[in-house]
Amino acid sequence: MTTRSHRTDAEELREELRGASLRVTRPRLAVLAAVHAHPHADTDTVLREARAELGTVSHQAVYDVLRALTDAGLVRRIQPAGATARYEARVGDNHHHVVCRGCGAITDVDCAVGHAPCLTPADDHGFTLDEAEVVYWGTCPACAATADTR
Ligand SMILES: [Zn+2]
Ligand SMILES: [Zn+2]
Repeated sequence: MTTRSHRTDAEELREELRGASLRVTRPRLAVLAAVHAHPHADTDTVLREARAELGTVSHQAVYDVLRALTDAGLVRRIQPAGATARYEARVGDNHHHVVCRGCGAITDVDCAVGHAPCLTPADDHGFTLDEAEVVYWGTCPACAATADTR
């Protein structure tokens, strides 16, 4: 994997880490770059990218970095029911995801309202709501095309 459509500048990534009060380390830079370059990447993809950048790095090390970045709010972890965890660097805009039941492809869907919580329940039972977790499930165009020709 050498070609990337969008590669976030290393200096921008350093700024992101510093802005979140995280020490800048090579593993953190590599993992953050991988998540930027591959939206909705699973852990294996991030690991492969990080290894391409760093040489040897353990699965546990990458996992620890992902958790630190997620805790710091630089990375968002999404885990649709029945799917493996995915990571993305598009944070803080309350966007949702459409997930293919066939192949697990995930695509961003802008928040219908633009801010959380974008769905208001008929009765909030006195809770102060800050988020509605919305996942749209369906069949992606590629899977739909395969089904048509079967
Ligand atoms: Zn699909
Ligand atoms: Zn997303």
